[in-house]
Amino acid sequence: MPRIELADGRASELPEGEPIGSVLPPEAIAARMDGELVDLSFAPSIGGKAEPVLPADADGLHVLRHSAAHVLAQAVCDLWPGTKYAIGPSIDDGFYYDLELPGPISETDLPRIEERMREIVGADQPFVREELSRSQALDRFADQPYKREIVESLEEGEVGGGETVTVYRNDGWADLCLGPHVPSTGRLKAFALTKLAGAYWRGDETRSMLTRIYGTAWATPKDLRAYEQRLVEAEKRDHRRLGRELDLFSSPEELGPGLWIWHPKGGIFRKQLEDYVREVNLAHGFDLVVTPHIARSVLWETSGHLEKYADNMYPPMQTETGDYYAKPMNCPFHVMIYKSSTRSYRDLPVRLSELGTIYRHERMGTLHGLLRIRGGTQDDSHVVCRPDQLVDEILRAFALTQEMHSTFGFTDPVVELSTLPGESIVTPEMAERATGALRDALERSGLEYRIAEGEGSFYGPKVDFHFRDAIGRLWQLTTVQADFGLPERFQMEYVVEDNQRHRPVMIHRATLGTLERFTAVLIEHYAGAFPLWLSPEQVRLLPVADRHLEHARELASRLRDTGLRAVVDESGETVGRKVRAAQLAKTPYVLVIGDKEIESGDLTVRDRAGTETKGVGFDDFARVLMGEASSRTLTQSVFGI
Ligand SMILES: [Zn+2]
Ligand SMILES: [Zn+2]
Repeated sequence: MPRIELADGRASELPEGEPIGSVLPPEAIAARMDGELVDLSFAPSIGGKAEPVLPADADGLHVLRHSAAHVLAQAVCDLWPGTKYAIGPSIDDGFYYDLELPGPISETDLPRIEERMREIVGADQPFVREELSRSQALDRFADQPYKREIVESLEEGEVGGGETVTVYRNDGWADLCLGPHVPSTGRLKAFALTKLAGAYWRGDETRSMLTRIYGTAWATPKDLRAYEQRLVEAEKRDHRRLGRELDLFSSPEELGPGLWIWHPKGGIFRKQLEDYVREVNLAHGFDLVVTPHIARSVLWETSGHLEKYADNMYPPMQTETGDYYAKPMNCPFHVMIYKSSTRSYRDLPVRLSELGTIYRHERMGTLHGLLRIRGGTQDDSHVVCRPDQLVDEILRAFALTQEMHSTFGFTDPVVELSTLPGESIVTPEMAERATGALRDALERSGLEYRIAEGEGSFYGPKVDFHFRDAIGRLWQLTTVQADFGLPERFQMEYVVEDNQRHRPVMIHRATLGTLERFTAVLIEHYAGAFPLWLSPEQVRLLPVADRHLEHARELASRLRDTGLRAVVDESGETVGRKVRAAQLAKTPYVLVIGDKEIESGDLTVRDRAGTETKGVGFDDFARVLMGEASSRTLTQSVFGI
């Protein structure tokens, strides 16, 4: 009789053939057997450790969402017989299913589909797992070409391994899938369909265009409502809309998709960001470098980019001195700087930092405002060091990362160690050393982290820092990579005491990522209301009537002389309207200039929260604001007593 150890320390003898669910609490929707996710119906033949997977766990949500995806496809097949279904994974916050329907549908059909899903949930159909041979599966899915294609490409290990294919069936409907699933459809307590989109089969623009239906599913109706609330909030904070309203940037048709221009207000915002990045890097011992936007093909051949990364690069420009490529990364240029002189072991580490503009030919369908772009500027840094310095240098990168992000109000990162992917330019031995160094540094840093198998870049393993924004969304902002591969490819060296030449190791770090993407994140995080140091316009002066205009101009000019960004609202609007306009522009401080202010020489200050303080002296105001801006604090100053 298999002996099952339970998470609470109890143990239980499970009769042969009995499902694992029988020893787990009733709220469980799946189980983890020795770390592996299984169905509650799984009957272990040997003993092991069993834990319940609860609906609100990360794994539980995955199981719920993936089960909801099945029910979605099932409902569509019921409503539109002849539907061909492709794939339906769970994703962050929800799920989708890609389908080929017999005719077009629109978002107005979503309520109908949801209604049918509710009927299936109401019927509480059990999910039944079956194992089929490959030929049985091809028969089972005789009229489902996408499923057949998946079964035929099984060697790639997409669904099941070897010759057996697993299928989950509820009622008459079946899908090819590894599982696990909720025991029955009745366990789907809270779901909704959210939108429709087009998606190419396997993301391939030459294959058929499918209909992708998105949905979301949660453990409880309360969680679902909270999520819907977050969506409403996110909509209000959308950086594309706020970027337009605040006149920060645009992406004109003439430039091409994914390329952005920064308007004057965006320009000053960006200068603030860039100055800060350079300042922090200098303070942490980095040297600033500058490199061109294009380079000859030989550089990219040596670096491995043309071999592994060409799909993301713009095609070459042909000239009489060779083919030139726009850079998708800055690393090879920094390697060239390292190699520009002979380095002794005493010169290491060499720390280089650049605001380097890169170009990546991202797929059209993935472009999204400033979050997914084709041209952007990374705060990119590379450390070249001796292997014995590696862990310390990684730790320094972690410290810099946390320091920089805390300035923006991002704390408590979610940290992930991604190990080597299948496609890589480094040997398994190099990858192992790099992963080991990253893991050592993580252990020494005291940061909690999780491991993402095979999610590293083609250079090798990496550590990602994700931060939570003001409305609870996680953003992957920083990547730190340890790399033995590029030093090898570029034959980088340093000389030790006995004149022997050794190979250094490289750390890649982009802390904010691209400034474009980081700006999008900041806009959504702050809902456009930037802290003073980042605000393009810091003070707006509102003359009550025309006769106050001259005084307002003079004050603005004095504020600018002290280093503040002040403008006068010269429109002929009423004060009420001017105040409203300043609120929409998210201006941190507003000064109302009327007869009293001119008479007394003092200021009436209105902060972003709408608190008005009269009788503030000019010098006090300027001094307090300069202090607020230079300290880069996130909180607004309070005037008055
Ligand atoms: Zn499934
Ligand atoms: Zn790099």
